[in-house]
Amino acid sequence: MENTFDRARKLDLADELSDFKDKFHIPKNKEGKDKIYLCGNSLGLQPKSTKRIIEQELDDWADLGVDGHVNAKNPWLSYHEALSEPMAKIVGAKASEVVIMNSLTVNLHLMMVSFYNPVKGRSKILIEYSTFPSDVYAVKSQIRFHGFNPETDLLFLKPKRNSSLITRDDIDEMLAIHGDEIALIMIGGVNYYTGQFFNLKYITNAGHKHGCVVGFDLAHGAGNIQPNLHETGADFAVWCTYKYLNSGPGALSGAFVHEKHQDWGERPRFEGWWGTKKTNRFKMKHEFESMSGAEAWQLSNPPIMAMAPIKASLAVFEEAGMHRLREKSKLMVEFALDCLEDLPQDQIKILIPQDPESRGCQLSLQMQHPDKSFFHELEARDIVADWREPDVIRIAPVPLYNTFMDIFEFSNIIKEELSKI
Ligand SMILES: *Cc1c(COP(=O)(O)O)cnc(C)c1O
Repeated sequence: MENTFDRARKLDLADELSDFKDKFHIPKNKEGKDKIYLCGNSLGLQPKSTKRIIEQELDDWADLGVDGHVNAKNPWLSYHEALSEPMAKIVGAKASEVVIMNSLTVNLHLMMVSFYNPVKGRSKILIEYSTFPSDVYAVKSQIRFHGFNPETDLLFLKPKRNSSLITRDDIDEMLAIHGDEIALIMIGGVNYYTGQFFNLKYITNAGHKHGCVVGFDLAHGAGNIQPNLHETGADFAVWCTYKYLNSGPGALSGAFVHEKHQDWGERPRFEGWWGTKKTNRFKMKHEFESMSGAEAWQLSNPPIMAMAPIKASLAVFEEAGMHRLREKSKLMVEFALDCLEDLPQDQIKILIPQDPESRGCQLSLQMQHPDKSFFHELEARDIVADWREPDVIRIAPVPLYNTFMDIFEFSNIIKEELSKI
């Protein structure tokens, strides 16, 4: 059997996306050598094109002032519209179902204002166990805001004992018992801690069958897996663009509202002038005449400087293509699992679904005797990964800018460091 070093070299040579690494700034160590960046799940790297694309808008603002709304090279009035189509492709939606606005937790709240409508007897929200804290705070505060009680109205979808992964049986059992009491199912489409990519269509169908509204947080999904949002039939989804979508710290969020809700009418929604028909925006009327589709959820005129990095990033995705990225991602994870196969199980266990369709490009290495200083040793050796309390080192080989050799080197370093414990 070929050794993993030779395999890494061959896989890199055969990789038709290998040129994309050069489109990114890779953080360097003190000697000027590239670090092994495995943290794209937390903050994606900067495309080299981003600066110029932001500068274009700064220049147009300097040269044109307010006229830039209409006369900028990319007129600001419609700037966000050009982003919907490429973003929609990434999440598998129609352009009219997608809008980029606000930040993630804000959008989660805006969606829940519309899609969480608890009544007595059906007031619960179901989320997955080990949810990202911000989502827990958001759903708890929505429950309280509607006059209900998080103690009784927040349900966690938990895996069976001895597993960190949630199965269809877990979902079915939960819904068989509580389906009629659940107003909203809000699941992190790819769990941030275990890396599990849930079967979104299955959850949506099961939830709808029980009369629940179904939405997803795809913070760890967008740009990583292919969620095919439209086809799942989910009611809504939200995600951020600073993780796999490489649009910079705190970058704007995406929101999806399924086409079936495009004419929302008088149902609950927080509204602002950017959700009214474009022809009316400057007529200063007090009647809100809703746009059709996801754009109707917009409140404010879009922040162009914050949109520019998304434009840059989407161009890179457009060129690479989500399908090719996903294929490479699967290969990378498979290779990583091979490289890490002989990690001492009594020291580190890898949390990751067995089925390649149920995982993205994230591997969670769970320390059996959690010790954050070990993680710092890895950092000292130029590995950029992240530590998630209480016990997990997350690494994400990102197909746009990581190589198979990165994975090989990482696996060598972690084994060397483990042998010193
Ligand atoms: C990253 C992440 C967040 C962060 O929320 P912001 O509003 O962007 O600060 C929230 N939820 C999930 C599931 C995340 O992965």
